Formats: sequence, structure tokens, C-alpha cells
Amino acid sequence: MIIQDKEFGEVIVRKNSLSRSIKFSVSTSGRLSMSVPTYTSEFLAKRFLNSNRDIIRDKLPIKDPTEQRARDYQKKMLMKKAKEYLPYRLEYFAKLYGYSYSKCRLSHANTRWGSCSSNKTISLNIGLMKLPEVLRDYVIIHELAHLNHMDHSRAFWQEVGSHDKNYKVHEKKLKFFNPGL
Ligand SMILES: [Zn+2]
Repeated sequence: MIIQDKEFGEVIVRKNSLSRSIKFSVSTSGRLSMSVPTYTSEFLAKRFLNSNRDIIRDKLPIKDPTEQRARDYQKKMLMKKAKEYLPYRLEYFAKLYGYSYSKCRLSHANTRWGSCSSNKTISLNIGLMKLPEVLRDYVIIHELAHLNHMDHSRAFWQEVGSHDKNYKVHEKKLKFFNPGL
């Protein structure tokens, strides 16, 4: 359920059978998000929001509605670019170095550039589209190497290094960028 609020913009209301009280947080889009018990009506949620307005304003970094929409747009465009590029770039390096993965997923997590799961699914963050190409390629190579080593052992780094001689520099440079939007 979405509540339209004059001050906070769109407020996301998530019904959660496990929650016993109403909790506020900020979603990745900068919107206010409320987790409420399943039986909570819209009327009740609005009333609770109103009575906590001051605390929310002071404590939570909510973006103003214009910024929320700008971020939505940015994410949509980044997703579009990523879809047209990342799966093909991944395939290119996989073929080049002889890796086989099962699936490529695009993510927009705030904390990681990519991941590789034990069922050989490789997730790539759409935020990679904002990086210089060498760093983007490095992340892809890094995740491909995880297909053979599910850790950051010496053997793992050796494998990464065999495909990217400058991996140490790239790993360091990556720290200057943020995967989130
Ligand atoms: Zn890793």
C-alpha cells in the first residue's frame, strides 16, 4: 500500500505478519517506509504517521518527493543501459576465459558491485554502468573467478590476476565509488 503524504511524498506501507508494532525506515529510493502489522488499516497507518511526524523529520534521511522521482528515473535509465550491456560483457569474458555460469542477474544493491552464488548465478549491480570500463571489467572478472573459488583465497586472487594484471589497483580504485544510486 502507498500513502500519498504532503510532506514526505509517497510513503510505502509494508504489511508484515511478524511485526507487532509500526516501524519506520527509509527505502533505497529515499522514500519513507512503514512496516506495520497485517491488520493495520490505511486510516490507522496515516494516524500513526501524523503523530510521529516530528521524530521522522528529525531522525530519518527522507528525500523530498522531487528527488525521489529523480532517483526513480535515474535507476530506470541505468537499468536500461545495464540490460543492454552487462549480460553481453559477462558472456564475452566467460567465453574468452572458459567459464560457464548458469544465469546473469542484474541487481541494484547498495553495498556490492556483484556476487556469485553456489548455483553459478552471477549478479551484477546496475551501478557498474557508472564506472570506468576497466573497473567494470574487473568486477566481471572478479565474479567469474568466484565460479572456481567461492572465497578470497590466494588461489582466487591468482586466478583474477591471470586475467587482469592490474587487479590490485582496480580493487583499490573501486573503493572510491559507491554501488548505490
Ligand atoms: Zn569477491
